[in-house]
Amino acid sequence: MRGFGGAGRSIGGMGRTFGMHRRYHEGDDVPQVPVTRARLGRVARYFAPYWPQWVAILLCIAAISGLGVLPPLLVRSILDNAIPDRDAGLLHLLVAGIVGLTVVSSLIGVLQSWLSTRVGQSIMVDLRNHLYHHLQRQSLGFYTAERAGEIVSRVNNDVGAVQHVATSTVVSIASSFLTLVATLIVIFSLNPWLALLAIAIVPSFYLPTRIVGRIRHRLSRQTQEQYAEMVAFMEERLNLGGMLLAKIFGQVAADAEHFSERSRGVADLNVKQAMAGRWFFMCLAVFSVAGPALIYLYGGHQAIRGELSIGTIIAFVAYLTNLYRPVGQMANVYVDLQGALAVFERIFDYLDRRPDVEDSADASELARARGDIRLEHVSFEYPRSAHRVKHDNGDAQGRPAAPSPALQDVSFEISAGERVALVGPSGAGKTTVTYLLPRFYDPTEGRILLDGHDLRHLTQESLRAHIGVVTQDTFLFHTTVRENLLYARPGATDDEMFAATRSANIHDFIAGLPDGYETMVGERGFRLSGGEKQRLAIARALLKDPRILILDEATSHLDATSEHLIQQALEVLLAGRTSVTIAHRLSTILNADKIVVLDEGRVLEVGSHSELVGNRGLYADLFERQFRDALAQASAKDDRTADRTP
Ligand code: ATP
Repeated sequence: MRGFGGAGRSIGGMGRTFGMHRRYHEGDDVPQVPVTRARLGRVARYFAPYWPQWVAILLCIAAISGLGVLPPLLVRSILDNAIPDRDAGLLHLLVAGIVGLTVVSSLIGVLQSWLSTRVGQSIMVDLRNHLYHHLQRQSLGFYTAERAGEIVSRVNNDVGAVQHVATSTVVSIASSFLTLVATLIVIFSLNPWLALLAIAIVPSFYLPTRIVGRIRHRLSRQTQEQYAEMVAFMEERLNLGGMLLAKIFGQVAADAEHFSERSRGVADLNVKQAMAGRWFFMCLAVFSVAGPALIYLYGGHQAIRGELSIGTIIAFVAYLTNLYRPVGQMANVYVDLQGALAVFERIFDYLDRRPDVEDSADASELARARGDIRLEHVSFEYPRSAHRVKHDNGDAQGRPAAPSPALQDVSFEISAGERVALVGPSGAGKTTVTYLLPRFYDPTEGRILLDGHDLRHLTQESLRAHIGVVTQDTFLFHTTVRENLLYARPGATDDEMFAATRSANIHDFIAGLPDGYETMVGERGFRLSGGEKQRLAIARALLKDPRILILDEATSHLDATSEHLIQQALEVLLAGRTSVTIAHRLSTILNADKIVVLDEGRVLEVGSHSELVGNRGLYADLFERQFRDALAQASAKDDRTADRTP
């Protein structure tokens, strides 16, 4: 199979595949994510199902904000009434009130954070599931273009950041707003002139907020991207395949250096981000000292003139904290809101990508399949995103190379039960044909019919239920042999599973493993030999029991015993099914009912072996080159054996 190998793609594609780089480049004036109604509305849709909890959270916040304005009033009473009147009873009552209010509002705070954490987690689960489901619907093109680590990072980190938005950002906005309103009401009713003085310096918060907002937003975005890149790099290198490659090509030290660069990049950005926040808080701190100074100055003069009580001045200064903290938080909230929207934007970027292959509205279920396949004038060009990755080189000016169709005007028929071999030089389009049959991609032009139904009018699930695929490179999950087999048919009984493994000549091998069917196959099945993995894949396909089989024959040569076991297993698998095989073995070609010869995306010849040899075209040529030596060797061996026989 082509198109999924890692090395060239990963190295060439580094940094190019990130969605964000398409629009924003480092050093550019990074646009902020404007807080628009549409954006907020879209985010709100995820919050909406939990409205009863949100109401409860808001009530908690309102109660906390309401209770928060009372202590300074009690302090004022202590200073202006209890102490001057020498009223110990009132003093005790007021002090108890201050303590009691704090205890009650802290308890409500606990309830509120419990509620908001639960809601945050629920929203996260919804979003994660939505994203996972959406990613499952994407065609192969998406996965060819995107790096695995990048996808995991979005599902993991970005969705994880949503929890922060729910528990911190939203609560912070509501709490700041309500505290601000309550405080303004109280201070204006206490002394309007002092209140005006207190809010006079509020605008000076605005400028630093805006500047820091832009910086933090840009840094947060860059950090996310760099982090995703670091994770993608790790995912690619820290696995068996990547590690083998690194060791074989002596790139261990170079990889460590690349990793360290990325790691340092993330660390630097984190430091910058933390410092941007620090400057911000420093500005706020400076301005929040100016407020009390003005109150003491103006209020002090009024007190000297006997127009204001000491208690009111002290209460006012206490209220300044109630005033500036929420203003600071609101300012910060705007920054956070932008950061939160950036997180959502990255998630929506995925959610907005329509899968290349989708079920049409009137798609029907294919309950049974006979297995008659017809390709009618099929042309196909890989989606550009996928193309860019595979043909990274581009031209001399660095522009991506113009795509050429992988298939052009391909037409041929396969009758039910027929064995078809696809033959052709490398890059001819053989794999591409096998991708189109299960609708991993849809043809750009022309159509493919199964039992007379255009594949586009069938649901993908019902179509694929009739198709089995055995690839050269068997993918196995890191779990037991049993679970890997049952992935093909979770409801299969043990007897059915054993029947499949017996037919695939792998039962005895599995039964002989230390834990039998419960043996872990290791990462991607690396604990099994190539031949064993292939037979396991054949057993898996047998268990699925599809009408149509797609087979990508292994090019690597196995030893004679292993080859023989696989051949036997394949015979059972192919019997009575329609099959399309990317053929590399002479026996497969000779046993095929029909051979389709492809070159540069076009069908050159169709026919049986003897017909095609008679044509003296590309097939005869390929056959000569590929198999003449093998045939000569085989007959020489036969001669030698005959000579030695007495
Ligand atoms: P081989 O025998 O070497 O596996 P093949 O006949 O199976 O070759 P295909 O894999 O079908 O050839 O490729 C046909 C053409 O499409 C080639 O030019 C190839 O580079 C291109 N191609 C294959 N996969 C992709 C992809 N994901 N994106 C872009 N182009 C692709």
